[in-house]
Amino acid sequence: MSAGSRTLSGIGMTSARTRERLVKRLKDQGIRSEAVLERIRSVPRHLFVDEALASRAYEDTALPIGHGQTISQPFIVARMTEALLDGLDGDTVLEIGTGCGYQTAVLAPLVKRVYSVERVGDLLRKTRQRLRDLNIYNVQFRPGDGWQGWKKYAPYAGIIVAAAASELPEALLAQLAPGGRLVIPIGPPGRQELMLVVRQADHFEERSLGAVSFVPLVHGG
Ligand code: SAH
Repeated sequence: MSAGSRTLSGIGMTSARTRERLVKRLKDQGIRSEAVLERIRSVPRHLFVDEALASRAYEDTALPIGHGQTISQPFIVARMTEALLDGLDGDTVLEIGTGCGYQTAVLAPLVKRVYSVERVGDLLRKTRQRLRDLNIYNVQFRPGDGWQGWKKYAPYAGIIVAAAASELPEALLAQLAPGGRLVIPIGPPGRQELMLVVRQADHFEERSLGAVSFVPLVHGG
């Protein structure tokens, strides 16, 4: 029996109920996409956090994942995924800030291919294995600096960033396909806004999706 299935059976029935409660809460908070809600329902979030925190995995809250980083709050993951997918035109998505891979696991089955960049190599090693254990195979990972994006596979139909940038990263704008959608928190701690940026023919259209709180997108990878 793998560590994963041990954890699953240990939590047992409670997790089905608590997951359903989480999904209902996200619906009440305005998440409309059935596909996204179904992913929140089925991704075993307790496998993305330390066993000591597993009982809190279906609360709608961020939790520590080591290296001073956090697993994103389910509502925010749902909101960002919904904003990214709504009108997404194309197959490939770039994710910046893989962390423990929870956002990756929610998103990956909803698109053809995800490219994911994370600066902390140690997080990435564990995340690779975790997604394999969950039978998610359409993600390619790379250790590196998200400010630079991942030029090799550009342009992307969508880019999703899980850490707050001080300003819109030029490289990410450049790697967006025409009509491409970038979902990114912008601003200093305490004053961050989640932004949706859409690449139009001759400009970038920007819209705020509300106040958020993320760890910073570190400069210099
Ligand atoms: N996506 C995760 C949340 C990750 S928290 C989830 O689903 O829970 C943000 C992540 O961004 C951290 O793992 C952090 O190491 C990473 N990060 C911060 N600055 C970065 C940079 N410049 N390039 C790549 N990753 C970065």
